[in-house]
Amino acid sequence: MTKEKIFCANCKNCTVIRQHESEPDKYVLRVKCQLRKWVKRSGEEKLYKYFTVARRIMDECEDYVESGELFPYIKNLRKELPIKDEIYSTKEQ
Ligand code: SF4
Repeated sequence: MTKEKIFCANCKNCTVIRQHESEPDKYVLRVKCQLRKWVKRSGEEKLYKYFTVARRIMDECEDYVESGELFPYIKNLRKELPIKDEIYSTKEQ
């Protein structure tokens, strides 16, 4: 039997944050594991670009807290995610 993969995007510990760039009214979206389970080799916390969140897959994670039914959530998420890193503005258009 093959073990199901864990999609971090469907875990309550996976959150989206705003990261401000050099201009204070501009920001990009990043995802982070609230439990700091994503780390670089250096041990530093790793954040990922929001548009890649559906690719954050763990073979196992004891802290996975399912936030909803996986399917069709992941399928819909993949359709709705931006296709590249986007810069957002806090200013009204
Ligand atoms: S707790 Fe585990 S499954 Fe949840 S976001 Fe962090 S690494 Fe992913």
